[in-house]
Amino acid sequence: MAKIVMKFGGTSVADVARIRNVALLVKREVDAGNQVAVVVSAMSGETNKLVAWTREISPLHDAREYDTVVAAGEQITAGLLAVALNAIEVPARSWLGWQIPIRTSAMHGSARIVDIEPDLLNERLAQGQVAVVAGFQGIAPDNRITTLGRGGSDTSAVALAAALKADRCDIYTDVDGVYTCDPRIVAKARRLQKIAFEEMLELASLGAKVLQTRSVEMAMVHRVPVRVLSTFDADNGGTLLCDEDDIVEKNPVTGIAYTRDEAKITLLKIPDQPGIAASIFGPLAEAGVNVDMIVQNVSEDGRRTDLTFTTTRSELDRAIDVIRKAAPQIGYKDLISDNNVAKVSIIGIGMRAHPGVAQTMFKTLAEKGINIQVISTSEIKVSVLILEDYVELAVRALHSAYGLDAA
Ligand code: ADP
Ligand code: ASP
Ligand code: MG
Repeated sequence: MAKIVMKFGGTSVADVARIRNVALLVKREVDAGNQVAVVVSAMSGETNKLVAWTREISPLHDAREYDTVVAAGEQITAGLLAVALNAIEVPARSWLGWQIPIRTSAMHGSARIVDIEPDLLNERLAQGQVAVVAGFQGIAPDNRITTLGRGGSDTSAVALAAALKADRCDIYTDVDGVYTCDPRIVAKARRLQKIAFEEMLELASLGAKVLQTRSVEMAMVHRVPVRVLSTFDADNGGTLLCDEDDIVEKNPVTGIAYTRDEAKITLLKIPDQPGIAASIFGPLAEAGVNVDMIVQNVSEDGRRTDLTFTTTRSELDRAIDVIRKAAPQIGYKDLISDNNVAKVSIIGIGMRAHPGVAQTMFKTLAEKGINIQVISTSEIKVSVLILEDYVELAVRALHSAYGLDAA
């Protein structure tokens, strides 16, 4: 007998028939003698609708009320799945974040899970009752409802598995595992049987939304065995998240990710002197603007140069506002912003041992006539910023160039 957490995403619970299908998958695990906690997302499209309504009423709404609204989608699916389970004689009850409780930070809209109280749930699981937990939500120190950021039900599931000391956490979604690239964009993408936590962390944070980044962090820290599986073909496929040491053949590139949520700001003719970077990035940090890639040119005359950095599209207006206010301290001549850009990244733990990996990327993009605007690297990834129009072309070309195409 094992204790397991099963998580079902939006498409898996998109309508009543699919909720019934999920109930059957849960029943199978219960019939096999397992204790089961299930985490559900809102029905697909539901969260988008709730976000849009909130923004429509007021773009500058209170984040606490945003959370009250957008957490509602998960309440519905948790209740419906509990009803569906009871209807097929599997004892079950729904749990909202505050009822467990799942305590989070007060950062409404993207709260972090701080602590999950396991006793109540464990007691019920031991009695043979399935716990159907609303994903994506928790409770702040002041008792207000919080949400965990888009895609946050993955994190709810992994955190719950850690708190319950579950034997495994199965993430059921609309693809049968983690692929070398988003299979919606690259038809030749291949499913990976295993992926190292470190690689999955990079893939997720660089745009592969199959798992929320924080869920991977959580799995890595708490050593939770996580599998990604298909709800619609549960007996086939799957990808296991594992330690680097469990991967025998370390390819230079394991996966490719991309994100369109990028914007670029260039400051022209800033003084080339100590303290200038601090005068730009200090105020941005204070305003909570996330800065990702940065390049600064060498000045020709040693006096003035240009500096480019990227942030997310949703933060672009705020970033421009901050920079304009700090203009007297920075002393730039002009500001150019551009959100017609996207970031493409190659990721692989084998990169550490294989020189020349980045060069293949640059050459491949050059052959397609794609200009690289900014580059950033880490030990196991290379990212480039390019014109958004070329994302799909770039991703497919790189997928072939690194030998990732399915036969
Ligand atoms: P859920 O609603 O189940 O949480 P998501 O839509 O959040 O599902 O995530 C699954 C989607 O992630 C897939 O449909 C796929 O298009 C996308 N995806 C992006 N990159 C990858 C990848 N490398 N492997 C698998 N799926 C990916
Ligand atoms: N329903 C939430 C969202 O759409 C959480 C999730 O699906 O994981 O972002
Ligand atoms: Mg998701």
